[in-house]
Parts: sequence; structure tokens; C-alpha cells
Amino acid sequence: MNSAPRPLVDRFGRVHTDLRVSLTDRCNLRCTYCMPAEGLAWLPGAELLGDDEVVRLVRIAVRRLGIRSVRLTGGEPLLRRGLPGLVRRIAALGPEVSLTTNGIGLARTAAELKSAGLHRVNVSLDTLRPERYAAITRRDRIADVFAGLAAARDAGLAPVKVNAVPVRGVNDDELVPLVEFAAEHGYRMRFIESMPLDAQGAWDRARMVTADEILAALGARWELLPTGRAAGEEGAGPAGSGRRGTPPAEEWRIAGTDTVVGVIASVTRPFCGGCDRVRLTADGQLRNCLFATEESDLRALLRDGDGGGDDEGDARIEAAWRAAIAGKGPGHAIGAAGFVRPARPMSAIGG
Ligand code: SAM
Ligand code: SF4
Repeated sequence: MNSAPRPLVDRFGRVHTDLRVSLTDRCNLRCTYCMPAEGLAWLPGAELLGDDEVVRLVRIAVRRLGIRSVRLTGGEPLLRRGLPGLVRRIAALGPEVSLTTNGIGLARTAAELKSAGLHRVNVSLDTLRPERYAAITRRDRIADVFAGLAAARDAGLAPVKVNAVPVRGVNDDELVPLVEFAAEHGYRMRFIESMPLDAQGAWDRARMVTADEILAALGARWELLPTGRAAGEEGAGPAGSGRRGTPPAEEWRIAGTDTVVGVIASVTRPFCGGCDRVRLTADGQLRNCLFATEESDLRALLRDGDGGGDDEGDARIEAAWRAAIAGKGPGHAIGAAGFVRPARPMSAIGG
């Protein structure tokens, strides 16, 4: 099929151009806000999409549905065997390709990933203190993360963003130090409100550090100017305009510097009205929202023999994809009385 893609629009007029692909639900860390210490069952290997299947779905997304950016995530996507080869095949299809990772192993692979066509990375780091890192992630690996960050920067995977989830009484005293660390090393700091997506169901709203609290803590130290743009957008809007921009991060610049800080406030400032995302799990289930309680089984279409590698099979998958987006609701309503957590945790959806 050579015709131009037809945009993936839902009934609220939201155009979907960003695809998040989870490459595995496995991880080499056990962050307390994400997974239990042990006992989380992994998806069986036979259920995971192979590289050819992932590439085929991305090709359909790019060529037929107008997807322009692909973020690879997990679980820990660096655990996926042959990742540089997969990145190369996805990048060859034309979208911007980025990666969300805990950074372990990135020191070894950053340059290879860059030359395979990876554009950007987000690296998770919730604290600068080794003992605290070991307590949060239940693994003593902070040195690997520092090395991975530096390697990503040196490889030109810019901008290197650092993601932190502040949790009350755990690392909420490190908001300013994390921003200083990022500025000093040429990274961009982003804070993410913790969400009720941990595998053990222990999320506690009272321990979530809200965007207001994050901005108050940073605002006590620096003058913050709204950049008027969202993370990932090209070109800043007028400083001080306060425009929300497209999701997910609201960005702020520290006055008198070029340091930019992002805040992703999925819980207290939901950005559902501007959502342009669709998600594919490692076992081939399409999700129209991080908080969706229903999924569309694209793996079944890929594997039913009818799916084939042909145009007709691709058209069938495209139709299922459009139907899934047509069923997308207006928003996630965390905090509303009837909110139901999705059955899958963040690590199995792809954060
Ligand atoms: N393992 C990779 C990593 O940690 O970056 C990629 C997957 S992880 C699920 C993606 C992002 O989700 C990370 O930045 C992580 O901090 C964040 N995350 C995990 N659990 C979360 C939760 N319950 N609430 C908010 N963010 C969460
Ligand atoms: Fe692993 Fe990322 Fe979850 Fe931490 S947040 S346990 S690194 S998937």
C-alpha cells in the first residue's frame, strides 16, 4: 500500500501520532512504586511478539495510521535481546524512535543504539544517594545508571531526560538536588506524579507528591517561568505564556538559565483532552489508554494465519486498530468514585 496514511482520530477529534511499544514486561530492578519485591509472574515467552511481529505492527502504524513517534519501553527494554537490530528496523520505517529505560546496561549500548537510529532516551533515576537508590529499586545499581546517562549524552541521544517519581517521605527532599544534578550534566529533569499502576496495588494517594508540591519546592529555590510548551515539542512558545501545550509534561525554565524542568501530572492535572497516544503491550495487545480496562488483541490477528504478511491482513489489523481508538473514552478519571485500576500493572503495559 503506497497511499498516504489516514490519521488515527477518535470520536473526540484527538489525532493519535505517538505509539508506545512495550518490548518486555521483565525488569532487572524492583522499584517499590512499580513492582513487588518478588512473586510477579512474567508473560510466557510464546505470548510475546517477536521482532518481525513488532516491526509489522509499527509498519502498519506508520504507513497506514500516521504514527510519527515510537517510544520503546517495558518492563526494561534494554533486556530485549537484539534491541539495536529492532531499533534499526523500526527507525528505517521513518518515525522518531525513543527509549524509556532504567539505564542499566545503557553505558554498553548507547552508541550502538544511536547508530541504529535511536533519537532520544529517558532514564529513570529517583535519587542521587546510593543507599536510597538501593532501597527504592531494591538493587544496588546506581553507578550503572550514572554511567548509562553519561554514555547516552556522549552518544548524542539528546535531550537525555531523567525521570523521577517523587514519593512522600522517600525522596521528596531531593527535588532541587535532582534538578541541579541534571543541569550540571546536561540532562533534562522531569518529575512524574506516582500513579495507581503498581503491580502490588499499594498506591496511596497520600504518598503521591503532587505537581503543586513539586512546583512549590522548586519555586522556593528558583524563579520558574512556564515555557508554554510540552516536552517533545519542537520550538518553545513565548516564555511566560503559560500555555499548556500537548501532553504529557508541562515544562518550566529556571529564570536566568537555560535549565528546563518538566512535570507530568497525570493524576492532579490530567491531560486526557490532548492525548495523542496509543500503546502496544509486549504480548501484542493494543491499549487506547494507560488506564484502559479493555484491550484489542492484535497478536491474534497477526497469528491467525489469516493475518498473513499481505495487504489484506494489514488492512484487517488497521481496521481493528481504528476500532480500538474509536472506543477510546474522554479521560481516565483517577480520583473519581468509580475509578477502576487496569488489570495490568505499568510494567506490563509499558510506561
Ligand atoms: N524500566 C524502564 C524505566 O524504569 O524507565 C521503563 C518502564 S517504567 C514502567 C517507565 C516509567 O514509569 C519510569 O519512568 C518509571 O519511573 C515510571 N513508573 C513506574 N511505576 C510508576 C507509577 N506507579 N507511577 C508513576 N510512574 C511510574
Ligand atoms: Fe523496572 Fe522501570 Fe518498573 Fe523500575 S519503574 S521496576 S526499572 S519497569
